[in-house]
Amino acid sequence: MQTLSILVVLVFFLTGCFQKDSENLNVSNLHWFEDTSGSLTLDQILDKAVSTEWNKAPHQNFNLGFIDSAVWLSLPFENTKNIQNPMLLEIAFPLHDSIDVYLLDGDEVVKTFQTGDQRPFAERPIKHRNFLFPHTVPPNGKLRVVARIKTTDTMYLPVKVWESNEFFAYDQQEVLLLGVFFGFLSIMLVYNLFLYISTHEKNYLYYSWCTSCILYLQLTQKNLGYQYFWPNEVFFNHMSVPTSTFLMIATSAFFILKFLGLDEKQYAKTTLAFKFVIWLAFIGIIWGVLVLASQTSIVSYTAVVLSSAGLAVVATVAVMGILINLSLKGSRSAQLLAVAWFSLLVGSFIFGLGRMGVPMPMILVENGMLIGSTFEAALISFALARHIKVEREARMLAQELALTNERKTREAQNSLLKLQEKTTQQLEEQVQERTYKLELAMDDLTRANLKLDSLSRMDSLTGLSNRRNFDQEFNEAWLSCSRSKKPMSLLMADIDHFKAINDTYGHLFGDQCLIKVAGILKRCVSRPRDLAARFGGEEFIVMLPNTNEEGAYLIAETIRTGIENIKLTHEDTQVTFTISIGIATIVPSMETSFIELNENADQALYLAKEGGRNRAVAYSQCLNKNGINQAVLN
Ligand code: GH3
Ligand code: MG
Ligand code: MG
Repeated sequence: MQTLSILVVLVFFLTGCFQKDSENLNVSNLHWFEDTSGSLTLDQILDKAVSTEWNKAPHQNFNLGFIDSAVWLSLPFENTKNIQNPMLLEIAFPLHDSIDVYLLDGDEVVKTFQTGDQRPFAERPIKHRNFLFPHTVPPNGKLRVVARIKTTDTMYLPVKVWESNEFFAYDQQEVLLLGVFFGFLSIMLVYNLFLYISTHEKNYLYYSWCTSCILYLQLTQKNLGYQYFWPNEVFFNHMSVPTSTFLMIATSAFFILKFLGLDEKQYAKTTLAFKFVIWLAFIGIIWGVLVLASQTSIVSYTAVVLSSAGLAVVATVAVMGILINLSLKGSRSAQLLAVAWFSLLVGSFIFGLGRMGVPMPMILVENGMLIGSTFEAALISFALARHIKVEREARMLAQELALTNERKTREAQNSLLKLQEKTTQQLEEQVQERTYKLELAMDDLTRANLKLDSLSRMDSLTGLSNRRNFDQEFNEAWLSCSRSKKPMSLLMADIDHFKAINDTYGHLFGDQCLIKVAGILKRCVSRPRDLAARFGGEEFIVMLPNTNEEGAYLIAETIRTGIENIKLTHEDTQVTFTISIGIATIVPSMETSFIELNENADQALYLAKEGGRNRAVAYSQCLNKNGINQAVLN
């Protein structure tokens, strides 16, 4: 809004300045003559016969459009004062190719000027963007100015006559005004360029291109480029008129296309139209440069200028149409651009039509496009700033949204982690519990196995080792005694008349007897390596490693007496029973075997039975003096 208010102030300022336009002198007696052949000389023009065809020029908007002819102007001056009167003749349109000005005192040529934009700027009588011709009318004297103008551009002839002082006073203000406009455009250009450098937002760059082309166009139109920047580049200056127009169209269309950021699929036709305009403008530039460089007579400069002006009008209207269409669809960016573009449209329309010869107020024709394009630049800059602000806000909103989402995700992740941790902990606890239970079960199993193992080695009735376990233990003890060369003794015990006990008191009572015998055996056989076992039925076996025959005998006797003293009761009857024990001792070696030991013990038992039972007999007692087994003899 600040930009807009500045512009409004500028327009008022401009209007104020141009009111001073009325301070230039009356040119009501300006006459013109069209030399269609373009070949007439000054002498021929001054010839009375021709001079009858002079026409009176209109006071304002003297524009003959694009014509091939040369135009002659005639303007008489009269100084009624007594002092010299320095005057200036101005042709306030800077694009004419060649202007020859003759100052005449009667029929005599006092001074000649030759200029035009086809000649270097330095050759101008006064170095000014417009064509200025100084002349001094003597006191009470007369002077006639005759000028020949030939141009390929439009034959626009804003002829003004100034008193020198007045002109420079007026010009200062116009220069100031132009300075303000060009300064404004330059600031916009540089400022947006800096914005682009600092933000890398491409739209600022495109805007800068666009503004630089507007500047180039206006510098060319106002001839300031030729005056200040390329005074010797005649061709470049000549070429600049159409090319700057084409360039401005191309860059403006490109900027708007980029600025609107239209979706290419959704707005296929609109995008295509923009691209068409851009390409047409670029082709126009190449075409214009080629035509002007080749100086062909087939396609004239006029055609190039006209086509650039034509394309400017068509493209501006087309872009305007597109912008209005998009604005109606609700695009805020398009609405702002439409307002901006409208100011350029009005400016260039007035300029274009004015150049083509349509009568227009001079002030608008000369400055309409400058004002329009400055307005456009300001409004676009405003739209751009707004657009970028909106984008930034959207970006910030998106960032905020992304942050919120990220926070939510992180929270979800955290709760998931916690859940995971909890689950893991629970799982670990469960595993620990299960492992503990498993260990307990394993312990139970081990204990059960051990029990099972010991049970498998035990006689179920008596709790003594069974024969299988005895054999195993016996082998180990045998080897140990064999290594240590220690004697190994074996007791073989058999309950006496057990069949009778069974028969008399019953089988269960017999079992009781067996259990009692086992108890005695357990008590008497106490050394760690000694082992008593139930050999089968009512027979028992005891191994006594590291025990000689005497020792074995003592143990056997302890057992025997122990059993002898057992008193069992059966139905008020006291029952006693006895046992016979065979003892054998051997030192295990390569020559001896446990079978031998076994047989010896068996034989000793046999002898004990034979000898009357209830006794312990050692195998050595079985041998006679010759060492022959008595049992065998019997
Ligand atoms: P001897 O004095 O000559 O040894 O006479 P004996 O009766 O003891 O002889 P024998 O070997 O003929 O008898 C053994 C008996 O032992 C036969 C059987 O009924 C009995 N017997 C074997 N095993 C068991 C058992 O587990 N319990 C009971 N109650 N009796 C058994
Ligand atoms: Mg027996
Ligand atoms: Mg027996």
